[in-house]
Amino acid sequence: MDKKKQEKEEQSLQEKLFYRKKNYFEEAEEKDIEKCYKFAEDYKNFINVSKTEREACKNSVEIAKKAGFTEYKLGDKLKVGDKKFYINRDKSLALFKIGKNNLEENGIKIVGAHIDSPRIDLKQNPMYEDSGFCFFKTHYYGGIKKYQWTTIPLALHGTIIKKDGSVLNVSIGEEENDPIFYINDLLPHLGQEQMMSNGYKIITGEQLNLVIGGKAYKDKKVREKIKLNVLSLLNEKYGILEEDFLSSELCAVPAFKARDIGFDRAFIGAYGHDDKSCAYPALRAILDAKTDDTILTLLVDKEEIGSEGNTGMKSKIYEDILEEICENLKCSPRKVRAKSKCLSADVTSAFDPNFANVYEKMNAAIISSGVSINKYGGSGGKSSSNDASAEFMGKIREIFRDTDVIYQASELGKVDLGGGGTIAKYVAQLNIDTIDIGVPVISMHAPYELISKGDLYNTYKAFCCFVNKPFA
Ligand code: MN
Ligand code: MN
Repeated sequence: MDKKKQEKEEQSLQEKLFYRKKNYFEEAEEKDIEKCYKFAEDYKNFINVSKTEREACKNSVEIAKKAGFTEYKLGDKLKVGDKKFYINRDKSLALFKIGKNNLEENGIKIVGAHIDSPRIDLKQNPMYEDSGFCFFKTHYYGGIKKYQWTTIPLALHGTIIKKDGSVLNVSIGEEENDPIFYINDLLPHLGQEQMMSNGYKIITGEQLNLVIGGKAYKDKKVREKIKLNVLSLLNEKYGILEEDFLSSELCAVPAFKARDIGFDRAFIGAYGHDDKSCAYPALRAILDAKTDDTILTLLVDKEEIGSEGNTGMKSKIYEDILEEICENLKCSPRKVRAKSKCLSADVTSAFDPNFANVYEKMNAAIISSGVSINKYGGSGGKSSSNDASAEFMGKIREIFRDTDVIYQASELGKVDLGGGGTIAKYVAQLNIDTIDIGVPVISMHAPYELISKGDLYNTYKAFCCFVNKPFA
């Protein structure tokens, strides 16, 4: 055999036997990339107005209503063909379509994502004046690098229950002419000691104070003139008293809008890709679904603080919804759960060549190499991880076979360097096959995160495949 022929045969043998990740932009046709960029525009419009779980919930409901979904209340009757959403305390959402296939045989297909993101929450007694400033005291929400949240424009979002019981929703700092809010940092000239301290202490929790004013109230007799002035402005505009902060949920979120990144616009920069870059595709997938199976999309709260409370994934409400569906269709919830399947839709860490040493490249999610499946998460020794079975992973591969979904398998980073959790294990506890899947993110939990449009679009395609294609 001549040398060239031999090389060719070896190459084709390699092609046959080796597994290699694909790059979406290399593989996809121009037409598909156009669709991908269009999807990214829809996504940007959604996240620009969905910075908190309440806003994401409200906007998702509006989109679902337009697609013919109607509200479900516990105890309502359900029948095949119904398209419903259940709103849990304005903070989490369950959307479902009842299909004609037998539930006890086929189970329910669930896609679950979270709609809360790391941010800076206000304390319950937030307001004080000091040295020419008025501030709000805060307690951060979720795992953040605190120093990243200083010296950026912040908007204030949230809900206040006033003394008379009325509800006030606010969003200040998103419009061009709105004022914004700000967290101070130290000038480098005086930062020698600060810069020698470890990252946790560069900015401490109690230094994350939000600048909210600086103009004195014109009255010689009163102390705390700036605070009084701010409160009088708030009272005039919203009718609130300082005491009303006791029953408020206010949070500072980055005031940035989502923008394309790069000359080629391949990436999107935005606040809250974790986890709206999975929540939005999950929402779109159920709206666009064409299937005879029953499908359920969960958009849950509190993932960033451990899925706690009655709006987080640990809440019984999600199991209650499953049971209500089963009761209505005269099925055993136990049998249905045993056959159900869930994609735990959450972002993962994308390999960052600038921080290559924390990744094990073979098992890191590569940007633009598609939606990433994490068989397991957790930290050192797979601790606290939902380790999905090979059988379920095999079924997922089968679902994506002969489709144009570009996907990869990854884990967060190097073994023993850290870790993270998702809602996966709480769904799996219900005896439901569950696997983590989602968009790889750069600078996760930073005020401005980066994702690839290709990965976002393939996440949507993957969810569509999962809900539409029958499992063998
Ligand atoms: Mn997440
Ligand atoms: Mn997160």
